[in-house]
Amino acid sequence: MSADPVAITRDLVRCRSVTPAEGGALTFLEKTLKAAGFAVHRMIFSEAGADDVENLYARIGTAAPNLVFAGHTDVVPPGNEKAWRHPPFSAEVTEGELYGRGAVDMKGGIACAVAAVLDHLSHHGGKPKGSISFLITGDEEGIAINGTPKLLKWAAERNEKFDHCILGEPSNQEELGDTIKIGRRGSLNGHLIVMGKQGHVAYPQRADNPIRGLVALISALQALPLDQGSAQFAPSHLEFTSVDVGNKTVNLIPGEARARFNIRFNDKHTLDSLKMLIEQRAAKAAAGTIKFALRWEPSNAPVFVTEPGPFTALVADAIATVTGRKPELSTSGGTSDARFITAYCPVVEFGLVGQTMHATDERVPIADLRALTTIYRKIIDRYFG
Ligand SMILES: [Zn+2]
Repeated sequence: MSADPVAITRDLVRCRSVTPAEGGALTFLEKTLKAAGFAVHRMIFSEAGADDVENLYARIGTAAPNLVFAGHTDVVPPGNEKAWRHPPFSAEVTEGELYGRGAVDMKGGIACAVAAVLDHLSHHGGKPKGSISFLITGDEEGIAINGTPKLLKWAAERNEKFDHCILGEPSNQEELGDTIKIGRRGSLNGHLIVMGKQGHVAYPQRADNPIRGLVALISALQALPLDQGSAQFAPSHLEFTSVDVGNKTVNLIPGEARARFNIRFNDKHTLDSLKMLIEQRAAKAAAGTIKFALRWEPSNAPVFVTEPGPFTALVADAIATVTGRKPELSTSGGTSDARFITAYCPVVEFGLVGQTMHATDERVPIADLRALTTIYRKIIDRYFG
């Protein structure tokens, strides 16, 4: 088995593992990790209404601490394959870059972690001082029902303890080493419905136009900031995404008007406290005269943060040593499986550069694969040092 991150990335990219297909990617990892002495578990999780998904947990060592590398081998579809410079599952290397779906998101990241771990083991008699684990799902790009949440639950039921986790998602903005993600804002979707009374536009006194009330509530909810931000987060933000009346008739005052909104919120709130705040503000603006209702969609994206401390410092130092860059500790961006892992252990996200993720011609510089492997290797060495 090769500990070359480029070879491992190519082997993984050649697996057609578009969510929820396994595509041979987990089988490849199983073989590679077993050969290095890992105990490997493959689990298929099912649930009515969702695709079955294959997952993998591998561990070497039984002692604490257990350092976990997490990730996903599934990829988003390639889109029009003809539009690619090189076929998306051929993993061709041109001018120092490896092309393919998943090159940065995140087969490349997994390959670097595997190469770094194998390298560490071969320099330490084949065994870590504590334990090293891989927590890999095939359902991150999908609805994430039969992926990481169930994998974590399965591991907890077997009494697996995780001490720290590195999720190898493409965390960097421009250059390798510019960003570690240490948390994420929460996301909450709501519906605002204003009830009026339908009627003829020529006789408004007999009707109650809900659009007036909706406009008043929308403007009230946008008028005040939700907070001023916190130590690790930018201010929370409410954005209306749709205003709907659906009235096709020119001389009719509609009976009801609706709007949808999304809130990206920081650690000044919980899902419950945030809902209460919005409900209070809407009620105040309605002043007993606007009839309204707020409906909330279920959210599985709570806010979380891994507070900066010795572990984030260890990761940041390793990055600085290899790249010369001092990474920003960021909480920006869309959701990832870190939102589930955070309930079990501190998690940071650090992987490749995200610029071509999900795009045609997704690709990764070979130099980045080598540098990320060196960074992971330093993190492991120091973690168990
Ligand atoms: Zn990803």
